[in-house]
Amino acid sequence: MQPDRAARAPSWSELEGIRLLRGVATALVRLGDSYGTESLSHPYPTEAQQALDATVLACLLLKADPPESLPDLIQWAADLPVEAWPFALPADALRSGSQLLDRGTRQPTQLCYEWAVDGERSAALSEQPFMAAAARRCREEDYPEAYQAFRRLLIRRPVLTDRDLVTLPGAHLGDLEPLRDLLRDIYQPVPASYIHPGRGVCTACARCGTLLHPTTKGGMWCERQICQKRDSVRAGREYRTDHDGGINLLIRPLRQWVSAPGIQELRLARRLTKAGADVELWPDYGAYGMRVLLADGTAWAVEHKDWTTPALLGRRAVPPRSGPPHDRCVWVVPASRLSEQPNFRATFERYRQGASPHLVTDSELALAVREASGSVSSGARSDAPVTRSPDDESKGALF
Ligand SMILES: [Zn+2]
Repeated sequence: MQPDRAARAPSWSELEGIRLLRGVATALVRLGDSYGTESLSHPYPTEAQQALDATVLACLLLKADPPESLPDLIQWAADLPVEAWPFALPADALRSGSQLLDRGTRQPTQLCYEWAVDGERSAALSEQPFMAAAARRCREEDYPEAYQAFRRLLIRRPVLTDRDLVTLPGAHLGDLEPLRDLLRDIYQPVPASYIHPGRGVCTACARCGTLLHPTTKGGMWCERQICQKRDSVRAGREYRTDHDGGINLLIRPLRQWVSAPGIQELRLARRLTKAGADVELWPDYGAYGMRVLLADGTAWAVEHKDWTTPALLGRRAVPPRSGPPHDRCVWVVPASRLSEQPNFRATFERYRQGASPHLVTDSELALAVREASGSVSSGARSDAPVTRSPDDESKGALF
């Protein structure tokens, strides 16, 4: 007997709306990475043309007004929440009000990156090839300190001058020396879109250290969500573009997927250490985020993942394939994420595969650590309020 194909629910990747949204997000991320406005003149880049064609076709089928050009599509992405696009998507696939591009700078939002890396052809938008190369190089040298120094550099120094690229690898006991060539690949000359028109300078964010984008209205915007949640942008150091030989910015996949979550990873590690755990960051050359050894002897493998889209995060949840042994594996999101999106945990669980990590908040993990150390009774767990750590309240720099 033939299987009843009509009765089979389509998989995520077979849904037309999912394919369309991924295609548009991927095209927008690649356009954001191409400097200047050449990409907006004919002929358009192939991926952008395909995304435009697919959106036009979807509009025509729905008898809606289509975008007439690539600049028109970009305008849509900066103006329209994704639920207003002509894409049929599962109800829990999106957070209402989310946009693919920031309105003031036309830069891809985190949501846009999350959809772009959900695609099958996403390796070039991911941090994986670069982090795997760093791990391989340090492992060959049997030099775990080099890998640790590399992770901390990406978190603390998203901007390096030409002079830094020459002198840094040899400094600090030479820990970065094995990665000298890789640093040249991942720190690229600052794109023109970061340079203030007429002044020839770019400005770092005083909170996280990455460069701020000038907006169309003369303001500035930090691409990191952790900074966007604050009341206002805080301008930090200004760099002349020719300072110390030239300014280089860490490439976006590493800023997005390593530097930004790394700030939160370091804060979580400090918080768990203070609560009584023994924390090892990026064990076995980054096999997973951190190994947390509780006072009762149990070891947790922890990944900090602050994503905006719980469905996409749930789809990616996999246990570590290597690294030191652990008794439990969890993915951690900030408690504030669940306060803002009450369905976050339920949606993550719906998309999570059987043996993959469960989701906990940073507050829940800190409570588990305190319970294990005996500084709080286990009865406090069930009705623990979602609280913010003292670090979260800081209005200053994130380091
Ligand atoms: Zn910032």
